[in-house]
Amino acid sequence: MTEKTDSVLLEIVNLCATLDQRACGIYSRIADEVFAGTQGAEFWRSVSQDEAKHFNFWERVQEFAKEGALPAIFSNPFEVRDDLQSVLSRVYRLEERIKDIKTLSQAIMLAYTLELHLLHPAFETFFHFMKGPLNDETPEKEYASHLEKFFHYAKHSDIAAPEVEIFEGILDRLLKMNKELVIYSQVDPLTAIFNRRGFFNTAGILAMLAKRNESAVGVMLVDLDHFKQINDRHGHQTGDEVLKSVASILQSNIRHSDVLGRYGGEEFIIFLSSMDPEKIREIGEKVRKSVETGNNPVPITVSIGCSRGYIQGNVIEELETLIRRADEYLYQSKNAGRNRVTCGH
Ligand code: GH3
Ligand code: MG
Ligand code: MG
Repeated sequence: MTEKTDSVLLEIVNLCATLDQRACGIYSRIADEVFAGTQGAEFWRSVSQDEAKHFNFWERVQEFAKEGALPAIFSNPFEVRDDLQSVLSRVYRLEERIKDIKTLSQAIMLAYTLELHLLHPAFETFFHFMKGPLNDETPEKEYASHLEKFFHYAKHSDIAAPEVEIFEGILDRLLKMNKELVIYSQVDPLTAIFNRRGFFNTAGILAMLAKRNESAVGVMLVDLDHFKQINDRHGHQTGDEVLKSVASILQSNIRHSDVLGRYGGEEFIIFLSSMDPEKIREIGEKVRKSVETGNNPVPITVSIGCSRGYIQGNVIEELETLIRRADEYLYQSKNAGRNRVTCGH
């Protein structure tokens, strides 16, 4: 990852934070300038506070971004940045319309337009990836209930405008689509485990936490032995079934705090966090044996290379170094006759 990508990522985080700040300001202005002294003011103040709750979240994301712990969270960060910039300028234009609001229906429509802008997939992407490390304290769940609040309010205010209902349908759908988009772009469709991108995003965040806690981490590369022969003898479809089967064996051998991904065609990667460094060989052996004795469509073995260490500097660079070393040990396992584990620092 280049320094340029690092800084564009930070720009994206800052844009998201600014957008939430503007939303907070817009709702509190609606409360103070449009519905001052009425019962409605309370509702607008409360949705403004929903937005304010996110400020702390963005600060924490900024921290992760600065440490380089969010490597490939966007496949096209420059596009996302430009997109969010244009969203922000549209939000500025919305702000100018506050002074013209006369009715509740107009206020709701402005709010829905604003929420439509805020449903940019970048937000969902951050919510999704920070969920684990921040112990579920992300705005993700709150966001759905934030939208619900508007829907409920509009319904009970007897706003009969058909566009209100149409808008609600769109917002609801967009929220679901964003969630799916984030998941599908990080998962390998064959094995249903992380693809390379999903792996790096999740492992990057865990590596950052390991750095902070000064705990050891490990990387395990697992490559199927003579897999080409399986394809040649039994067909590509059986080969696919073997890949699925091995992925699920690996999954059942790791802990919640570990990350499994499909690293390449028939190569898997496991990131182990908060581990006892001396245990990595044991874990590798357990994985190797589970595959060998597992209920696979055809008999298969794996060769494994493991590396371990501490993350002290740039999170992703050091993660990549660990992977490079694990790859060297994997090569040694292959050379020594396959179906074995080689470990080192
Ligand atoms: P080695 O023990 O040295 O690792 O030998 P190998 O045959 O496993 O390794 P090689 O790199 O020569 O071949 C890997 C094979 O994996 C070739 C490729 O066709 C196959 N492969 C990669 N991705 C897939 C996939 O998604 N499905 C199937 N069925 N085969 C795949
Ligand atoms: Mg292989
Ligand atoms: Mg290979």
